[in-house]
Amino acid sequence: MLTNKFVFLIITFFNIISATSQNSTEQIADTTFVNLKQYSEDFIYDMKYATEDNFLKAKVYDCPECLLRLKTVQALIEANKDFIKKGYKIKVFDCYRPLSIQNKMWEIVSNPKYVADPKKGSIHNRGGAVDISLVDANGKELNMGTPFDFFGIQASHNYPKLSKEVKANRKFLKKIMIKNGFNSFDSEWWHYNLKTGLNDKVSNQKWDCN
Ligand SMILES: [Zn+2]
Repeated sequence: MLTNKFVFLIITFFNIISATSQNSTEQIADTTFVNLKQYSEDFIYDMKYATEDNFLKAKVYDCPECLLRLKTVQALIEANKDFIKKGYKIKVFDCYRPLSIQNKMWEIVSNPKYVADPKKGSIHNRGGAVDISLVDANGKELNMGTPFDFFGIQASHNYPKLSKEVKANRKFLKKIMIKNGFNSFDSEWWHYNLKTGLNDKVSNQKWDCN
C-alpha cells in the first residue's frame, strides 16, 4: 500500500515538472528556424541580398531578415558575446538562404570554391551558415582585405600577401567563431558553418516580411 502511494506521488511529481517546463519555457527543437533579431539585439545587419549591392546585382530577398536554425542562433550569440567583451560586434551579411536563391547564384558563379552546387545544397540552405564580419565600438567595419563576396584568392584565409592588420583581423574572427562551434571556409574569410550544420535538411521556405 505504501509502495503504491509512493509510486503515485513520484509519477504526479514528474507530470507536474514536465507540464511546467512545457508551459513556461515553450521548448522548441534546436533545429527550428528562428529569426536572429528575436533572440538578440546585439547584431549589426547589412543583409546584402535584400539590396542590389551584391554579385547578383539583384534584390533577391523581399526583406532583410536573418533566419537560422535555433542551434546556429545560440552559437552565434555566444560568439558575439565574446566579441562584445573585446569591444567588437558581429555584422551579418547573409544567413539562411532558400534553395531557389542558391540556384540563381550557381547560374552566375558555377564554381564550388565560391558558391555551393545547389544539387548538394549549401549549409546556408540548411540554416547552419552565416556570412559575417566585425565592427568596432564606433560601428566601423574591420579591414578584412577584401569586400564580402569577393571571388578571388585574396579572400582566402591562406592568401599570404595580406597586411599584418588584415591577417590579425581575420585570425581574431576565426578564433572566436571556431571556439563557439563553427568551422571556417578556406576560400571565404566571411563564411562560417555550424559544425553540425550539415546534419540538417536543405530548405526552400520564404520568410515572413511583416
Ligand atoms: Zn556564406
